[in-house]
Order: sequence, then structure tokens, then C-alpha cells
Amino acid sequence: MTESTKTLCPYCGVGCGLEVSPPAQHGKATNRDHEGNPIWRVRGDKTHPSSQGMVCVKGATIAESLDKNRLHFPMVRNSLNEKFRRATWEEAFDLITKRIQQVLQTQGSEAICMYGSGQFQTEDYYVAQKLMKGCIGSNNFDANSRLCMSSAVSGYIQSFGSDGPPCCYDDLELTDCAFLIGTNAAECHPIAFNRLAKYHKRNRKVKMIVVDPRRTQTAEAADLHLAIRPGTDIDLMNGMAHLLMRWGCLDTGFIDECTSNFPAFAEVIRHYSPDVVARTCGITIQDLATAARYWADSKNVLSLWSMGVNQSSEGTAKVRTIINLHLMTGQIGRPGSGPFSLTGQPNAMGGREAGGLSHLLPGYRLIKNPQHRAEVEEFWGIKPGKISPLPGLTAWDMITGLETGDVGLLWVAATNPAVSMPDIERTKAALLKSPFTIYQDAYYPTETAAYAHVLLPAAQWGEKTGVMTNSERVVTLCQSFRPAPGEAKADWEIFAEVGRRLGYVGEFAFANSAHVYNEFTQLTLGRPCDVTGISHEKLKQSPIQWPYPDNSDECKVLSAELRSNTQHSALSTRYSKRLYTDLRFATPDGRAKFGAYYSRGLAEPPDPDYPFILTTGRLYGHWHTQTRTGRIEKIRQMHPEPFIEIHPRDASSLNITENSYVEVGSRRGSARFKAKITRAIAPGTVFVPMHWGALWAENAEANAMTHPISCPDSLQPELKACAVSLALV
Ligand code: SF4
Repeated sequence: MTESTKTLCPYCGVGCGLEVSPPAQHGKATNRDHEGNPIWRVRGDKTHPSSQGMVCVKGATIAESLDKNRLHFPMVRNSLNEKFRRATWEEAFDLITKRIQQVLQTQGSEAICMYGSGQFQTEDYYVAQKLMKGCIGSNNFDANSRLCMSSAVSGYIQSFGSDGPPCCYDDLELTDCAFLIGTNAAECHPIAFNRLAKYHKRNRKVKMIVVDPRRTQTAEAADLHLAIRPGTDIDLMNGMAHLLMRWGCLDTGFIDECTSNFPAFAEVIRHYSPDVVARTCGITIQDLATAARYWADSKNVLSLWSMGVNQSSEGTAKVRTIINLHLMTGQIGRPGSGPFSLTGQPNAMGGREAGGLSHLLPGYRLIKNPQHRAEVEEFWGIKPGKISPLPGLTAWDMITGLETGDVGLLWVAATNPAVSMPDIERTKAALLKSPFTIYQDAYYPTETAAYAHVLLPAAQWGEKTGVMTNSERVVTLCQSFRPAPGEAKADWEIFAEVGRRLGYVGEFAFANSAHVYNEFTQLTLGRPCDVTGISHEKLKQSPIQWPYPDNSDECKVLSAELRSNTQHSALSTRYSKRLYTDLRFATPDGRAKFGAYYSRGLAEPPDPDYPFILTTGRLYGHWHTQTRTGRIEKIRQMHPEPFIEIHPRDASSLNITENSYVEVGSRRGSARFKAKITRAIAPGTVFVPMHWGALWAENAEANAMTHPISCPDSLQPELKACAVSLALV
């Protein structure tokens, strides 16, 4: 093969288009990694509407991870004390099917769990839902998106009646004021942020506010950085709302015509006077007022957030208080304004569309809704009532289910919970108790593989064809360009084969992934995320933004409004589309609903025993638990080791000097990190990157300290903050 293949970067939710070419080109030397494997050549796809050829270091180096530490064959063992031995697929499938049937007979379907991933393609997600929720009869499918975006999902549903980010990337260059809260987008969503930063630099009237306890690269670019105390986001948002109300900056027409619950919200924000809010947040009244003034004076405000908001015991409330600011000022449904969650993973959006959380069904349906269950049962041709009316176990529930013995079989795919879950020692102890764990992944070893009874080799990015949806709802076909190594199979193929062996032969008779995708799209008919007009064949021509109903030609329509407002290439704007432009929302009464929330603060505030707040996050080059990026030399050199950021005042009080080792302890566990003394972090707060698991560094796991206390609505754990002590080693 000599031609390039178009695909999507498989890291973050920005979803940049890539073009991949074979390693050897006529007359050119072949690049090889340090193990001698030829490296595929990757460059940005200039025709992709979301990224227009741009890529960051992760996307640019992705091909170097393709051949390293791959799992080639199924492996099995009877107990965790034994070594793995190679097995045939026949043996592995037989073993898995028998164990599922055994658990169904002894403990029932509720004892069977699958923990999947935002790395799945939509086809993988969809077949997993059909297998678990439709055929096995267990809603216990959760994805690592539970740790990532579930607060955004519940916030959107409660405020707008449906999931789905209403904005698009073109809004980054159409706004008058960008309000970034709980997101270090410069490092975590670099291509989207670069677009905003360049526009902001060119247009000095455009304001950028960044809210973050750290002075991150993102904060460095802002006109106003509000280094609020961790856990005071709702105080800040309610305080800004208080000022907007006091100044009379309300869009009363919009509030009256298009929203509900405003009186309850107004009653709450009455209590958030500037002096109280400034004191609580640890900022000046002047800075609070400046933020509110920027918002008030801007025709179009775009708010952006990610894990600093979502990973919180009040995550849903935080999302809704951001949305409140948009609702009270009518800042939604038009170019450059609206609330825009930056998705963590490449296909967490596709997962949500396919029903890939334990409370969801395909097509943005809810397990709790009897009509939604009936629609899916009818479509799948399964007996009415087969889908349980109760939401399944969340990711953390699966861990506690292992502790109690309620979980009899755990199937983990494309994620590494032995590093990424909160309270990691408790997680590992629970995994040790699992009666039977299937671990399906492209890579070996990983930290989680050590807890598995069966290893299944998965084809990964570039080795299977499927679809992913990025943060701005753009759906891209990721075409395979090389065979999977050894006997690795696509995740959906593995799930489908197990379904057939459980007796659902017709239900899982998929000829290929295009067939799977076509079936999935039928379940979105008439739903907010309608993609019935999309197919693999159509996506070969270009990516498409949803909603895109059958026979729709909307992606070719450039609205007059946008045409007059944008400087972009027609290629980019042609796809731009936002939700709720008619100001009708997906709630039963068509109105967006204000949320009325008092701040509760951190689930575990600092105290005399644990006087510091630990916050965790990503670095520019690494991805999650380093399964890929830890094996790429350039990225390893960029971020060679874990560290802890400490403010000079705190360091001095504990005699901690630059590069000395610090023991960080919480009520759950401890770890050691090299000190980086910096004013970028606020006094009383410390920062540790989340990428290092036991395979990569000894005793340096950020999640040794974190806790699993979760938002009551989204059930997303508060990975962003816990109370810790510090001591010089
Ligand atoms: Fe990949 Fe995200 Fe970087 Fe784009 S910004 S190249 S999607 S990691």
C-alpha cells in the first residue's frame, strides 16, 4: 500500500484528523523505532473540519506505539498465582461463555460486569451494549467516561433535557469572551486551545478568563486568572450571577420565553454577595467583579470546561451553575456563545450516543425510562421487560461489588483501572478478590493485566475500521491501514462472538463494522443525536457533524449568519452547526431549566491532620496511564518522571527544597514525589500528574491518595481533590 489513509487521532476528545502513510516510500529511508520496527508516517489531515491539519505531539508520534508491547494471542490461567499460558481463541471463547453461563445460573445477570472505554469505536460500544443490556440482561456496562465526562452528561440532561454539547469549534473564533474553568486546555486539548489562543491574541477586545487553582499554561494566556480555592467553583459562579443580577444584566425575554425555575435560582444567588464569595474563593472582590463585568459586556460568551469541573462530588451542580450564567444572559444557541464541555477521550461522545454508561441505552436513551427500554427491546427483538429498569453498576460500584462478592465476573476492555481508579490500593485489593476477570487490551503488560484470569488481544487504532465522535459532534471514520498483530481481533468482533455462543446467533450476525454501524444508526432515528443519514460509505467522503438525519444534506449548508461572521475557510465552516439555535430545548416543556445550588465544597476538606489539598491532572505529552505514550521516546524525554508542585511558602515551612523527595499521605495511602517548587500553584494546594502507575515508577501513584466520593447525580468520583499531609523524606 502506498497511498495515505485518513483517520482520527485516538487520544483526546479534540478529535484531530490524521493521514497515515506506510513506513517505506519510494526512494526514501524507512524510519524505525529503537526496537527496529518500521514506523508509519503520520501528519495532520488538512481537510478535517475540526483540526485543519494541526496535531500536537501525541498525535504526531502515535504511530511509534503501534508495535510495542502488543498482546498477540489469548492467554489464560486458573488463578492469579499462576503464569499465563497461550490459548486458542476457541479455548478462550469456550471458557468465557461457560463462566458467563455459570454466573447467570448461580448469581444472576446482575453479577456480570463490563468496564469499557472512551477508546472504543462506536461499533465496539454498540455491540457491547447489545451483549450486556440486551442479551445477558445486565445493565452493568460502564466506561471510564464515568471518571471523565459523566457530570457533563447529567448537567446537560438536567438543564437542556438531553446530553450533547451545544457548541462547535468555530465558536472558539466567534466569541467575545472565553470563560475557561477547570480545564488546562493548553496541555490537555492543545489544538482546540491553540485556535482560541491565536484568535484571542489577534483580537485584543476579546477577553479570556481562566479559573484554576494552578497558574497553568492556559492561565498564562488569560486576561484574568482566578486562582480560586479548590471546591469553590459554585461559589464563584453564583457570585458572578449575583453581580449580573444586581447590575440588571439579564436577558429577561429569553428567561421568560425559554427557561424555567428562574425564581429558585434567583433565591439562591441572593446569598452570594461579592464579599462573601471573594472570601470563600480566596480572590479579590475586584477580580470577581472584573470576571462578571467581562461576561456582562460581551455579546457572546463561550464557557469551556473539563475535568476540574466534572471530577467533583458536586460535578453536576457545577456544570449546571455554568449553564445558569448562559441562561440568565441568553448566551446560547448563537455563534460564539454557549456552554461547551471539552471531552476527555477520543470517542467518549460516541460512547454516550451508543448508550455506553450504566444508566444509558443507545440513542441518548435512559434505562429508567420505560418507553426508551421498550423501544430498544423492540428494535433488538428481545422479550419485553428483558432490559432491567434499574441502572447498572458504575465503575466504582464494580469495585465495591468485588469486595462484597456481588460481582462474579468482571470484563475490562481498553482501560487500565489498576492505575486510573480512585483509592488505588483499595481498587487493587478488590481486583485480587475477583472470581474471574477478563482483560481485553491491545497492550501487554499493563498494571491491570496482573489481575486477569484471561487476556484477550484487541486490535487497536489503525487495525480496525470504525467511527469516533469528537467534542463538537463531528463523526469521523477511522479506517484501518494495517493488519492487527498476531491473532488480535476488533473489540466488537470479540463481543459479537460471545453473543453468538450464548445463543444469540442472528442478533450478532454482523458481516463487518459498517453493518454494525448501520444497525446502531437506526436506533438514533428521531433522537437528539440522530445519525441515520451517516454511514461508513458516506464518511469515506468526509467527516459529518450530527444531528444528521437520513437524507439530510445539512452539512453542505452554510448558514447565512455564519457566512457573514467567520473568516474561516469554507471547508471548516461548511460543517459548523450548533444545537438549540431555535431556543427550544429537549425538555418536556421545551424550556431550559435553571439549577438552584448552594455550594457544598470539597467532600474531603483539609484539616489539621491532612492540611493540604492535592489536585491531580494531565501533562501535555502523556496520555492517561502511559500505556501508549510511556513507550514513545520523545514523550518520555519530555516528561521523564512524576513530581509534586508545591508553593514556596509551603515548601519553606516544611524544609522542602527543589528536587528533594516528599512523602504525600492521605487517609487512604501515600506516595513519594520529587519536589518542584513553584508559584504556579496556590499556597495550601499541591499538584501531582496522574500518569504514573506501578509499571512506570515505584510508589508514585496519584490515586494512592484520591477518594471515590462521587457526585450524587452523575456518580463521578472526586478525583480532582483530596486532603493530604506532606513530609520531607
Ligand atoms: Fe490528538 Fe488531541 Fe493532540 Fe489533537 S489535540 S492531536 S486529538 S491528542
